[in-house]
Amino acid sequence: MRTSFTSEQLADPATAESEAIIRKCVHCGFCTATCPTYTLLGDELDSPRGRIYLLKEMLENAAEPTPQVVRHIDRCLSCLSCTTTCPSGVDYMHLIDHGRAYIESNYRRPLADRLIRRMLAGILPYPRRMRVALGLGGLARPLAPLFARIPGMAPIAAMLRMAPDSLPAAASPPVRTGRPASVKGRVIVFGGCVEPVLRPSFGAALKRVVERCGVDWVEAQGEGCCGALAHHLGRTGESVEAARRNVRAWQAELARGPVLGIVTTASGCGTMLKDYGHLLQDDPELAETAREIAALICDSSELLSRLDLPPAVPSSLTVAYHAACSLQHGQKLGPLPKRLLEQCGYTVRTPAEAHLCCGSAGTYNLLQPEIAGKLGDRKVGHLEALRPDVIATSNIGCATQIAARSGVPVVHVVELVDWATGGPAPAPFQLDRKHMA
Ligand code: SF4
Ligand code: SF4
Repeated sequence: MRTSFTSEQLADPATAESEAIIRKCVHCGFCTATCPTYTLLGDELDSPRGRIYLLKEMLENAAEPTPQVVRHIDRCLSCLSCTTTCPSGVDYMHLIDHGRAYIESNYRRPLADRLIRRMLAGILPYPRRMRVALGLGGLARPLAPLFARIPGMAPIAAMLRMAPDSLPAAASPPVRTGRPASVKGRVIVFGGCVEPVLRPSFGAALKRVVERCGVDWVEAQGEGCCGALAHHLGRTGESVEAARRNVRAWQAELARGPVLGIVTTASGCGTMLKDYGHLLQDDPELAETAREIAALICDSSELLSRLDLPPAVPSSLTVAYHAACSLQHGQKLGPLPKRLLEQCGYTVRTPAEAHLCCGSAGTYNLLQPEIAGKLGDRKVGHLEALRPDVIATSNIGCATQIAARSGVPVVHVVELVDWATGGPAPAPFQLDRKHMA
């Protein structure tokens, strides 16, 4: 795409990077076929190519974003399906990140929108606050239809509808089931923010499997949210601070000894963590450390595929595997969990339109509930058409979005690996061991 930024504009590193990304786009439109919002809405401005054009106009003219531009950029899921499809290697992720940050700094959203976004950024990354908010949300759920009728309050209605009836007990300090007899190495397990509140069983399963493979694990003191939630809201300052805090926490842990990797069970976090080198590239103190640390980040499926798993107990379960966008498009690791599950003796099936997002996408299912709901229903339809015993994925957002719409149990891939290699059954199967031989 031809651009006409001034040399003054290009003196800004973020603008220069975006200009280089935009120039790579050759308008071919291949990406439109695999974009969930274009598939659903059929509007060119809700396609990757259309959004690239809108971002180019906005940045080139240093313009105040219009409500129309903001609407189309907000509707992007950041699912990165377009980056998998694009033959020209357009780095859409960093372009849309820049666009969101530009909008956040240069556009005054309506009051309700501002308040809701501030509330999300102030609650979700903090497990204690989130626990309280979900508890109150559960009590206030009957008010959801009322909020749905008030203009601008649809996200509040979506939050209330998603508040669970009850939460698992707050995670206690990490407990080892048994330190491996001969330790082959150690990993840092990343805790994150949302997952330990909603599904602490994911991280617990990973720790058990890791131990069973003869690897020790540790949680780094002082780490917190990866920053992705703030980042996708355009609040770059907050995401940079989250990255700095985590890099420092892991730097301190690495000073105690080397690790095989820094591992996460949330692929949405993994995509963000792997990008810390880029996020902190201009940080005078931490740029180099962030690059080194980003190279250590691995998804749980990535780590487990490198370890020697114990022999698996055969299973009669049919698993529908949902590849999270952050795993298949963000990290290009989509097939790994399927291979792991097959290695563990499960029959694994992949749904139609596997490349399409389930609509979770961080805070997207709260901020864009209508589109997210349609994508969620479409995804669940394809998954249930496989007639599975269980749906497995590797991201807390997807698990929550799919579980809210399906009667089929939804678990993490690692929970099934844990079960097959000697661990406890995932919660939905705890009273039913007949599936394991
Ligand atoms: S990130 Fe996803 S929703 Fe956004 S333009 Fe690309 S394919 Fe479409
Ligand atoms: S596939 Fe790539 S090059 Fe083609 S229009 Fe989309 S972003 Fe541009």
